[in-house]
Amino acid sequence: MSIPENLRCPKCGSDDIAEIVYQPAEMTEELLRCVQEKKVLIRNEPAPENPPRYYCYYCGYEW
Ligand SMILES: [Zn+2]
Repeated sequence: MSIPENLRCPKCGSDDIAEIVYQPAEMTEELLRCVQEKKVLIRNEPAPENPPRYYCYYCGYEW
């Protein structure tokens, strides 16, 4: 998992964004590191249909 280098929030333009991961099978060290670096946001719920892939910490927008 990784966020494209120059990805920005389409709504506010912030680059303070995370990739959303739904119900990870296991908490690997890499995943944990990404969470601590706020590059990944974990949701312990089944992914909805057409789930948003990214989350903006600044404005809360998901896309
Ligand atoms: Zn935003």
